[in-house]
Amino acid sequence: MSDPVALPELRSLSRPELAALVAELGEKPFRARQLFRWLHRNGAAALDEMTDLPRPLRAALAARSSLVTLERASEQRSVDGTIKWTWRTGDGKLVESVYMPEADRKTLCVSSQVGCALGCGFCMTGTMGLARHLTAGEIVDQVHRANRRLVELGEGPAPRPLTNLVFMGMGEPLHNFDQLKAALELLLDEDGPNFSHRHVTVSTSGLVPVMRRLGEETQVKLAVSLNATTDAQRDAIMPINRRWPIRELLAACRTFPMKQGRRITFEYVLLGGVNDTDADAQRLAKLVAGIPAKINLIPYNDNPGLGFRAPAPERVEAFHRILFDRDITAVIRKNRGGDIAAACGQLAAAGRPGDQSRHSPDITGGETLTDPGALGY
Ligand code: SAH
Ligand code: SF4
Repeated sequence: MSDPVALPELRSLSRPELAALVAELGEKPFRARQLFRWLHRNGAAALDEMTDLPRPLRAALAARSSLVTLERASEQRSVDGTIKWTWRTGDGKLVESVYMPEADRKTLCVSSQVGCALGCGFCMTGTMGLARHLTAGEIVDQVHRANRRLVELGEGPAPRPLTNLVFMGMGEPLHNFDQLKAALELLLDEDGPNFSHRHVTVSTSGLVPVMRRLGEETQVKLAVSLNATTDAQRDAIMPINRRWPIRELLAACRTFPMKQGRRITFEYVLLGGVNDTDADAQRLAKLVAGIPAKINLIPYNDNPGLGFRAPAPERVEAFHRILFDRDITAVIRKNRGGDIAAACGQLAAAGRPGDQSRHSPDITGGETLTDPGALGY
C-alpha cells in the first residue's frame, strides 16, 4: 500500500492546486469546482458523499490523494450554550474547538496547532509544548465538522450555522502562518464557507515579523495578547516578549495595515497580584493610546497547578473603570464554558488517542520554546 502521508491532502489544497490535480486526472475544469464545493461548502466527510462526481474520478482521487476529516472524539456542552469538541486527527492527535452562541452571532474558536511552543505561564495549552502544526485541511475541517454538527443539533441552517471565527484555540496561529493563510483562503472562498474577513479574527501572542505578513497577505482582523504593561512583567509570563518586547509589538500594531474603521483587539488576561493594579491600568491606557483599539479584559480562568489566581471582581471593575475614564473601549469578557474547561487558556487535549484527561500539567511530549530566538524569524 502506498504511504498516505506522501499523497496530497485534498482538503489542504488551494483552488489552483485542486484544479491542477483534476486536470492531471484528465477531467474537465468544472469538476474541480464541484469537488471544491463538496470539500468546503458542504464539508463532505468522504469521497463517497460526492455523488455527482463520476465514480472513476472518485476512484482516481482516492488513489492519488488523501482526505482529512477530523473524528469527533468528544462533545461537552456547557450550561451557557458553549460546546467544546475534541477532534482526533488521522495520526491520533487531539485538538479542540469551542462554539460560542450569542444573540447576534455564532462563533467558533479554532485551533491552529497541537499544543503551543510559546509556553505562556498562565495558559494550559502552553504546558503541552508543541506536538505539531495543524495542516490547512485540519484547520478548516474544524469549521466543517462544527457546522455539520450544529445543523444536526438544530443550531442553524445548513450548510453554515457559524457566522464568525476566532483563531484563539490551541496554538499560536502565526507560528503556523503558511497553513493558517491557506486555511483562511479556503474559509473565505465564495465557493467554500464564504466567511467575510470582517468576521474572522486571528489572535497572536506577538510574533512581530509575521504580524506584518498577516496584515499584508490577508484581510482578517487582528487580536494581540498583550497581557502585561511592563517588559519585566511580560517577560515573566510570556517568554516571547524576550524576543519581541512590548515596544516592538506595539510598533507593529501601529503600522499594521488596517481597513478604515477597524480596530485591533488587545487581550489582557487579568492575573491577581501580577498585572491588575491601578498603575497597570494607567500604563495600559498609555500603551494603546493612538492605536485604534479595543481591550478585552479576561479575568484569569483557573488552571490548577499554574500558580495564578483571578483578581477579585471589584479589582476587575476598578481596572475597567480606569480605562473607561480614559476613553478606552474595554469590555470584561464573560467566562464562557468554564464548567467544561472551554474558556480561554483552558484548552489542552491530551495527545493520546482516547485519553480524555484534562488539566494535568504533565501532558507533555511536545517542544516548549525556552529560547524564543529558536522560532527562526
Ligand atoms: N496563541 C494565541 C492564540 C490563542 S488565544 C494567543 O496567545 O493570542 C488564547 C487567549 O487566551 C490569549 O489571549 C491568552 O492570553 C488567553 N489566555 C490564556 N490562558 C488564559 C487563562 N488561563 N485565562 C484567561 N485567558 C487566558
Ligand atoms: Fe500559546 Fe497563546 Fe497559550 Fe501563549 S496564550 S501558550 S501563545 S496558546
